[in-house]
Amino acid sequence: MSTADRLRRLRDSLSASDRMPVVFLGHGSPMNAIEDTIFSRAWRALGRSLPRPQAILVVSAHWMTKGTTLVDVSAMPRTIHDFYGFPEALFAQRYPAPGAPALARDVASLLASHHGAEDDTWGLDHGAWSVLKFLYPEADVPVFQVSIDMTQDLAAHVEVGRVLSQLRDRGVLILGSGNVVHNLRTARQDGDPQDFALEFDAMFAQRLMARDFGALSDRAGLGTLLSMAHPSVDHYIPALTIAGASDGKDALTVMTDQIDLGSISMRSFVFHAA
Ligand code: ZN
Repeated sequence: MSTADRLRRLRDSLSASDRMPVVFLGHGSPMNAIEDTIFSRAWRALGRSLPRPQAILVVSAHWMTKGTTLVDVSAMPRTIHDFYGFPEALFAQRYPAPGAPALARDVASLLASHHGAEDDTWGLDHGAWSVLKFLYPEADVPVFQVSIDMTQDLAAHVEVGRVLSQLRDRGVLILGSGNVVHNLRTARQDGDPQDFALEFDAMFAQRLMARDFGALSDRAGLGTLLSMAHPSVDHYIPALTIAGASDGKDALTVMTDQIDLGSISMRSFVFHAA
């Protein structure tokens, strides 16, 4: 089946909807999944305020691939506990939402220009389920993940968002989960924000507001500030994909913008169709 045919089928298989918002959540520590924090409270409130999606597509910092953009086509995505040294209660968490295999296959085709391919080995990593359990506690909305291809430049991830944005008119909630600043080496337990964290976060906020996604994905222009904020860019990429899925007409709302643990930005934002 050609990509055009797949796209046509995708349009036929989902009902038309009002244009869905796109959401980026800073997930931070896995402990947010089991603690009552300002962040988990904000996620719960967001879930109540969003239009109910037909399906959720998650781009999480924790599914990294090389040379391909994988799309999970599992019927029942497993809950992945991809962390170490945390309490047993965190390992006991399950998020038993169904997958969306037909839609996921079509999304893999849609992403042909980004080496899209089907996968049935992943599931839901903690970047996805630790926030979904607050957004949709009943786990009754079909959900699937799309990986981040770490071999692509940053601008390509903005472009992935542009490709995915057409799903917004078919009731699909596109959710990015990462952190706008994420440097675990410089984290401070209950410490003051690092200067570079405040600087990168403020720069990001200003350029996001100005819709200057070119500057946000220009590695050379971002320079050493980028490498301090992101020793590895995995947690940054989902924010770029969500920016790419926005429209010039969208309104931008910031949910939370604290720096947690010294060098983890919990900045979370929503682009709503105006
Ligand atoms: Zn993470």
